[in-house]
Amino acid sequence: MNAKMTVTEEDFKKKKVFSLFLSYYRPNIGLFLIDMICAFLIAGIDLAFPMISRQALQTYLPDKDYRTFFFVVGALLLAFVLRAGMQFVVSYWGHLMGANIEMQMRRDLFLHLQKQSFSFYDSSRTGSLMSRILSDLFDITELSHHGPEDIFISVVTLVGSFAALLFINAQLTIAMAIFLPLLILFTLTLRKKMSHAAMKLKETTASINSDLESSIAGVRVSKAFANEDHEANRFFRGTKNYRNARGRFYYVMSTFFSGMEFMISLLNLLAIALGGYLIMKDRMTVIDLVAFTLYISAFLSPIRKLTNFTELFQSGMAGFKRFVDLMRYEPDILNRPNAVTLDSVHGDITFRHVSFSYNQKDSSDKILSDINLIIPAGKTVAVVGPSGSGKTTLCHLIPRFYEVNEGEICIDGKDIRDIEIHSLRRNIGIVQQDVFLFPTTIMENIRYGDLSATDEEVIEAAKKAQLDTFVRALPDQYDTYVGERGLLLSGGQKQRVAIARVFLKNPPILILDEATSALDTQTEHEIQHALELLSTGRTSVVIAHRLSTIRSADKIVYLSENGIEEEGSHKELLQRSGPYSELYQIQFADDPAEGTTVSF
Ligand code: ADP
Ligand code: MG
Repeated sequence: MNAKMTVTEEDFKKKKVFSLFLSYYRPNIGLFLIDMICAFLIAGIDLAFPMISRQALQTYLPDKDYRTFFFVVGALLLAFVLRAGMQFVVSYWGHLMGANIEMQMRRDLFLHLQKQSFSFYDSSRTGSLMSRILSDLFDITELSHHGPEDIFISVVTLVGSFAALLFINAQLTIAMAIFLPLLILFTLTLRKKMSHAAMKLKETTASINSDLESSIAGVRVSKAFANEDHEANRFFRGTKNYRNARGRFYYVMSTFFSGMEFMISLLNLLAIALGGYLIMKDRMTVIDLVAFTLYISAFLSPIRKLTNFTELFQSGMAGFKRFVDLMRYEPDILNRPNAVTLDSVHGDITFRHVSFSYNQKDSSDKILSDINLIIPAGKTVAVVGPSGSGKTTLCHLIPRFYEVNEGEICIDGKDIRDIEIHSLRRNIGIVQQDVFLFPTTIMENIRYGDLSATDEEVIEAAKKAQLDTFVRALPDQYDTYVGERGLLLSGGQKQRVAIARVFLKNPPILILDEATSALDTQTEHEIQHALELLSTGRTSVVIAHRLSTIRSADKIVYLSENGIEEEGSHKELLQRSGPYSELYQIQFADDPAEGTTVSF
């Protein structure tokens, strides 16, 4: 894999959650330092301003030292220009650093998810994985940028402004400090309520989203059953819940902000009253009082910042923890350290005492047990048997989509677990019943079989899959969009795209898993030819219900819940009058298209 992770899976196993969070700062350390230095200087300027202006007003003005006075004003102007520049740096580069960190986490998660096996995706919902990748990490930008900055600046400002307050007037400061615990208590309680309401709001948002998703996805069903009203009512209930949750959030938020403003006004009023009293008693100057109230505002802003931070930290860390949980989920199918690359494949496939269960923890419900099977290179083996007997499962074991529990599967005598996974899968082509098309052009969809193929090669493959004539008739030909918001292809056309992909991939081993069973007889007939062409010269495992395909196979394997019940050629199996001949009687004997041509 070319793409590298910022923080490796090894680290996720070894390190603690918080230290993992810090690890993401490492590639951004330059930006982080610039951000912190600028933030520190801004806090310094803010702290110095009232002190300097107090000095200027108190000393230079009464002395009529206008030169120095205006020099100080000029210096302050310069400081503010610098401050504006630094504010820009903090706001722009700081946020950008947060966005970098978020991007790196998201990329790591994506790479990690790509390593997971089929079983992982069997048990996870697409929607919840999407929200893991997108919204869980949504608050991380804010936390990673504002978190350290908030703490750092708050501490500096808190200490600095408190020292300044004490310096200006110790008496007044101590009198005011008595009210401080009240203020802190108020902010903490309401903040807690606010984050609780915010969490509830998030939950209702998630539920309204998933309700809407299922309603829209199922709109054809609800129309068919004339149940639109039922769906509308369900949606209305959801929107009402959502509105109510918003209402509760706004209620707490409004209480918080109005209360907070009130407290601050009260504190300022108190300073004026007490300060005024001290002035009347000639124990304080007017200028000192002005400076004092300025420092009160400076002192209060970190308190606001810190409460803000607790919320940021809660939501950001909750998302980050869910991210870490997922990152720690170990992929169950990986390359062995000494895995070899598979090239120039001959194509012999051997199953030896293979047992498999989807439930890795409890292997008592085995789908396959003690399967022994030889698929010689270049030959076609047809697998038949009742639905649910494990035919698809058997095929999925060959490219290691799932791992065998016991026994081994070998290709050219090499255990597939000792083969590098990508090279193994490059040598196997699969055509299944449902075909997934990416929402892009037909050209790109076919090119998925070999990303390095030229346009000519893609068209060549399409010709072999008998898709070319159809595509040529489209207005945009190979550039026609398919899938979402594009042209909807019929089942047969999709199947041809899948076949063209495999032609392009040109693997020595081929698996056809009921590739044509969803198609009508006519289309099936047409595609059959392309499939035959595809399987020539390749080792093929074919699961089919079509007699002509089965009959022409070199070997037929009958698979049931009890395992492989019999194997042999069509003729041999019919003579044995076992389960295959029974299936044959039921399924094919009176098929007019097939039955008439069978003679034995
Ligand atoms: P066939 O292709 O012969 O119809 P399958 O191989 O699809 O049979 O399924 C065999 C059995 O395994 C069935 O009982 C099915 O319910 C079960 N099964 C198939 N896929 C999964 C899966 N991804 N997770 C758990 N059980 C599965
Ligand atoms: Mg199947």
